[in-house]
Amino acid sequence: MRVLVIEDEPGIAQFVCQGLTEAGYAVDMALDGELGLSYALAAEYDLIVLDILLPRLGGLQLLEKLRSQSIKAPVLLLTALDAVEHRVRGLEAGADDYLVKPFAFSELLARIRALLRRPPLQVDTVLRVGELEMDTAKREVRRAGSLIELSQREFAVLEYLMRHPSQVLTRTQIAEHVWNFDFFNESNVVDVYVGYLRRKLDKGFNKSVIQTLRGMGYRLNPNLSDV
Ligand code: CA
Repeated sequence: MRVLVIEDEPGIAQFVCQGLTEAGYAVDMALDGELGLSYALAAEYDLIVLDILLPRLGGLQLLEKLRSQSIKAPVLLLTALDAVEHRVRGLEAGADDYLVKPFAFSELLARIRALLRRPPLQVDTVLRVGELEMDTAKREVRRAGSLIELSQREFAVLEYLMRHPSQVLTRTQIAEHVWNFDFFNESNVVDVYVGYLRRKLDKGFNKSVIQTLRGMGYRLNPNLSDV
């Protein structure tokens, strides 16, 4: 899952980005509103963390611009303690939730997880596709009941595939949701990670979990047996 953090206080921005990266998200950081808007329009984020008071373009104006361009990624607003009016205006402008500064990182993470569970994504924290089961809260993956250890990036690639079962996903789509802008687009990193996943997930099974569609991309095998 890829997250954009738009926050002008470097300390807070750094703290949030580092925590989210450690929690397995691909994170981009923008330190002003204009830059934040251009990031949000350039990539498909799964969630945006947005400060209200920002230089160059305010958070609420930025939010209105996003919604007017049909960008539907959930937005979590960061607000100052006493700014009730800002929060109300923010929710009216299309924010999905807000958090009052200062906040504990654990609360931010809990809010983000809750927002990512909302439709159009699946409501449950457990994703199931055939015999494959992923608990996104406990960060556990099972195939036909047996636990499989995955690294954070492997988990993120599989989560994206499982959230879009039966769709063919291009390498670019997968990369955009799992890696941030620091990721070098022309590398074969997606293929490498699909290889790692197959090695771990297919061991002892005769059907591969991930199918390659030549010239198109990857998708979860639609013929995985149900448990
Ligand atoms: Ca600010």
